[in-house]
Amino acid sequence: MPSILYLDQSGQLGGAELMLAEIARQVGDPAHVILFDDGPFVAYLEQLGVSVQVERVRLGVTKSGGWLASANAVPALLRQVRTIVRHARRFDLIYANTSKALVVGALAAAYLRKPLVYHLHDILDRSHFSPMNIRVLTSLARFFAARVIANSQATADAFVAASGDRSRVEVIYNGFDPTPFLTDQDGERVATRVSLETQSSSFVTIVVGRIARWKGQHVLLEAARSQKDWTVWIVGDAFFTEEDMQYKRELEEIASTADLAGRVKFCGFRKDLPTLYSAADVVVHCSTAPEPFGRVIVEAMLSARPVVASNAGGAKEIVRSDTTGWLVAPGDFCSLRETLLEIERNPGLAALRAQAGRSDALRRFSIDAILGQIRTSVETCVF
Ligand code: UDP
Repeated sequence: MPSILYLDQSGQLGGAELMLAEIARQVGDPAHVILFDDGPFVAYLEQLGVSVQVERVRLGVTKSGGWLASANAVPALLRQVRTIVRHARRFDLIYANTSKALVVGALAAAYLRKPLVYHLHDILDRSHFSPMNIRVLTSLARFFAARVIANSQATADAFVAASGDRSRVEVIYNGFDPTPFLTDQDGERVATRVSLETQSSSFVTIVVGRIARWKGQHVLLEAARSQKDWTVWIVGDAFFTEEDMQYKRELEEIASTADLAGRVKFCGFRKDLPTLYSAADVVVHCSTAPEPFGRVIVEAMLSARPVVASNAGGAKEIVRSDTTGWLVAPGDFCSLRETLLEIERNPGLAALRAQAGRSDALRRFSIDAILGQIRTSVETCVF
């Protein structure tokens, strides 16, 4: 097994970081993680026994930024490349887990003539990235990455559509340890509802994920507006930009309007997701832009909860409509409301699909199988 230096720009606990934690824990001998920012991800990795350190850098470049910001970032970028070169000398391979990690990792790998793997967790299209940033990322991947691991077919397709090199791409889904989601949490159901000031008779819909406009929490609020016996739990927090904070304030405003007041609970970032999924009646994923993968959908399926997801991106590769869940048009709150009503009125059908979803998720997203694929992919880049 090669020694691997993992790079990630974030100190927060996002989907890409949670997947990286599992990979770094089990792939690489030794494995070491360098983060470009501090945050709760550091303690999370330490708790898993993963060697980690923070090398802070402020590039001042955003996903949708232009030339000027990038030009201003050059001195900081070069300093960071020098730092990473210093660390990377003693590793066989550099593994870039985010876009900024790719920029730094590609230059360091080129300098040291070491293989580079880019784990792509983003859909490289105009809804998130500027045309210039898309060109930079696909070009760096073309010239410097031995392999691009895409976390869904949708992610791979967007990469190729943006002129990424198809021959380097391999689709490997996220993997999950199902244990926490299989534990029977039914005994906690009442207590969880009480702790969230939710009536036991209420029809509880839950949306889990970062608070960001494209994650679409407002779509669920609109769907729930006319249904007085529904409660909405919004789990997750805004942690990236001022724009996300502004969106959170807008959600709080919508939630305080007369139709919804008292029926929306902002739960913040939570670590007890299996308990929350179990205490809810249905898990809603309502991103308005294509989701690169959608970990929360798989977690809900493993928890045997009915799932309604946006019919786009990775979500439609995970959920099989009419069999393991429901898919609705992104942003269409009327269709979402109709689907949720169907689930509320047909608990038998909902339970059937939820069980089918659990079996399907157990089969397709096993952490061991997926780590095996990543190990093979990485080894072929080195040996
Ligand atoms: N998550 C969590 N607590 C929260 C909100 C989210 O642990 O309060 C986790 C969630 O379980 C999932 C991940 O964050 O594993 C989000 O991944 P996803 O792919 O759904 O979205 P991303 O963050 O990659 O956009």
